[in-house]
Amino acid sequence: MQHAVTNLPDPIETADGRIQVHLVPSVKDNLIWVITSTDTDEAWAVDGPEADGVLAFCEAHGKRLAGILNTHTHWDHIGINKKLAERGLLAGLQVIGSAEPKDPIPGQTKQVRDGDTFELFGETVRVIRTDGHQDGHVSYVLNDVLFCGDTMFAGGCGYLFDGPPRAMLDSLLRLAALPGDTRVCCAHEYTEDNLRFAWFVEPDNAALAARIRDVWAIRAEGRCTVPSTIEEERATNPFLRPGSPTLRARVAEHLPDADVSDDLGSFTSTRLLKNAGPHKPLGDEPLPLQP
Ligand code: FE
Ligand code: ZN
Repeated sequence: MQHAVTNLPDPIETADGRIQVHLVPSVKDNLIWVITSTDTDEAWAVDGPEADGVLAFCEAHGKRLAGILNTHTHWDHIGINKKLAERGLLAGLQVIGSAEPKDPIPGQTKQVRDGDTFELFGETVRVIRTDGHQDGHVSYVLNDVLFCGDTMFAGGCGYLFDGPPRAMLDSLLRLAALPGDTRVCCAHEYTEDNLRFAWFVEPDNAALAARIRDVWAIRAEGRCTVPSTIEEERATNPFLRPGSPTLRARVAEHLPDADVSDDLGSFTSTRLLKNAGPHKPLGDEPLPLQP
């Protein structure tokens, strides 16, 4: 199975250049983020469906897998823990995850709650609890890099498997309140579909039109559209824009029973409409980008 990303990016670096965040593509569209530092031979993985890609990365870069940050317990996020455990490689690793995970986190050595901080490579990592996709989901902020699992995606958000919509909207708005230059390292390459839907509900958003042009060019080369920045997400992600009059009108047009009179109703209806996939029949047709 070919991964959506065939053309690997250079690692992201924190401002002082001490910490690198590398992409390890996995399965079909999972994005495993591997954190390393110029100071040590340690590597930390953020989630993952399997372990082979991360182990190969460590081998190739002379690194030693030291720990895992888990955001939530869906199989494509704790699969790496399970695969390492099967091979006897999980014991000895540090495994950090939610204090209230939906399911047990294999090998968990540290429980974290909203507002907790801990040290990684001499940097402070801050924990934000981000319920909505799954109960107990947490996100991690390391310097100017956000690891948000399946809560916020580039141009979209995760399914509300556990919800309720209020919890997901609150989670997204808390992430959106991070500094605008924060890099958003989400866990899937879903951006094209997300932006097709974004355009369906907000076809007068000039920033969105510009982003779509950029993303289409990036994808044409098999490159990764993640990370984006919080600033880009605020400007173009429909799930952060429940107050947009165009979005509200478009959602109401397609879901006549929807209450879009406030942000929660607008967000809830926008998520329902995306689930219905009204943008899908257009397939890969070019979008009529006006602005
Ligand atoms: Fe998930
Ligand atoms: Zn996932």
